[in-house]
Amino acid sequence: MNPSGPPDRALFDQRGCLTPAGFAALARAPIGRGPAELGAHLASCARCQERMLAIGAGPRPAPSSVPRRKPRLWLGVVLAFAALILALAALILAARMR
Ligand SMILES: [Zn+2]
Repeated sequence: MNPSGPPDRALFDQRGCLTPAGFAALARAPIGRGPAELGAHLASCARCQERMLAIGAGPRPAPSSVPRRKPRLWLGVVLAFAALILALAALILAARMR
């Protein structure tokens, strides 16, 4: 599919609403850079908005709404501390062997 070419007829059904292919084209496109016709229709058509929500192919939710697991900071601190202890022990051992 060529984004700069003429709009694909298959993206709209007989009623002028988006087809599954139309939704897929919108979902594939980067945010704000989807096919203008599809976006314009979607903005003015409640039916397509509901369908888009139903199939979950709408604009991606804001990152803040996606639950993110916190990195295990304490694990990193413990590992760094253990590495430091080992390095110190190696230094002490090396000094004693002299
Ligand atoms: Zn529609």
